[in-house]
Amino acid sequence: MFSRKAVFLVVLACASSFWSCSTLKKGSSFNLFSIEDDKQLGLQFSRQIEADTRQFPLLPEQGNEEVYKFVRGLTQRLLRTGKVAHAGDFAWQVKIIKDDKTLNAFAVPGGYLYVYTGLIKYLDSEDQLAGVMGHEIAHAALRHSTQQMTRIYGLDALRQIVTGKSDPSLLAQIALELISLKFSRTHESQADEHSVIYLCGTSLNAAGAAGFFEKIQGKGGTPPEFLSTHPDPGNRVKKIKAKAEELGCTGRDSNKSNYERIKKLLR
Ligand SMILES: [Zn+2]
Repeated sequence: MFSRKAVFLVVLACASSFWSCSTLKKGSSFNLFSIEDDKQLGLQFSRQIEADTRQFPLLPEQGNEEVYKFVRGLTQRLLRTGKVAHAGDFAWQVKIIKDDKTLNAFAVPGGYLYVYTGLIKYLDSEDQLAGVMGHEIAHAALRHSTQQMTRIYGLDALRQIVTGKSDPSLLAQIALELISLKFSRTHESQADEHSVIYLCGTSLNAAGAAGFFEKIQGKGGTPPEFLSTHPDPGNRVKKIKAKAEELGCTGRDSNKSNYERIKKLLR
């Protein structure tokens, strides 16, 4: 049992810095939000995102059934490994944003995932896309998003959104900033690591995310969320590959030809 004073001190430390909080007890998911709050927050944000068709033009489901089936199937494969926290109780909804210029994917609390057509077209194989999806799934599953949003916007603002009492403009503003939500270095490393853990439970190459970093190294443009907080993508590539080796992952599938076929459907 914790003494009351000790609990108070932990809460205080976490309220002032969620980054240090996440390192207080490795592997724990101390969070001032409840799981229900994560789900509610995600629901509110997903509604806002999907209503804002100018900023987030969704790829229509009609006519793109096969592409949706592919991306959702890939996500389900990772969820079925038994390695994803909240695999059974978060929404795990996948939507594709029709924007060929953006190399990005992002996750909203409660398991609402968004992936840009620009990213799907940029990548070369199924394991690469699965690696990036795994990274984003990890941010939601490990509840990094709520920790980080609390740090940036404060608990009060998020509580107002959870209860539906917030100013609509605040919800809209935060939704826009979700795409580029900056995570701590610890959270980025954890998300990379979990991407490997999830893929390791499939027949796919578990270091799929490394393929993305290798590809984007040396390219200009605005780095997507999963690159921006790390100055050295090379280091991430090494760590991802080392993790796959450490876990003894045997999967080698990259399914390039099927991936090319899916990309062609997006044209
Ligand atoms: Zn990330």
